[in-house]
Amino acid sequence: MVHIKHRTRGAPKIVMRGEPRFKSRRGLRRTQRRTPGNITVVHYEKKMPGKPLCAICKNYLHGIPRNKPIKISHMNRTGKTVQRPFGANLCSPCTREVLVWKARVKYKIAKADDVPIHYRQFVKV
Ligand SMILES: [Zn+2]
Repeated sequence: MVHIKHRTRGAPKIVMRGEPRFKSRRGLRRTQRRTPGNITVVHYEKKMPGKPLCAICKNYLHGIPRNKPIKISHMNRTGKTVQRPFGANLCSPCTREVLVWKARVKYKIAKADDVPIHYRQFVKV
């Protein structure tokens, strides 16, 4: 079924096809496509996921692609992650702090209770 939303002189004819029902529109965004029959059709595409963030400081992570999951699944492994401990989870300054606290706890320079609370889930005792 084709609904013609509005048509005024000069403005393109916009046709809505397969409009999402109920509240399922939340994860979608509207795009307009010109078909071979010279009709502008509104398509609904899935929104892009957000940028990956560091788990501790919430800064953007470098070297991690931002794309739809199907496109990421077609990439190779080295393109998807950073090859170091906590790669694709923590940024490099946070990784350095976590590793330093791990060594301090391991060699008993500091106790497990001295570790700052936001590093604690990564410094396993
Ligand atoms: Zn961080």
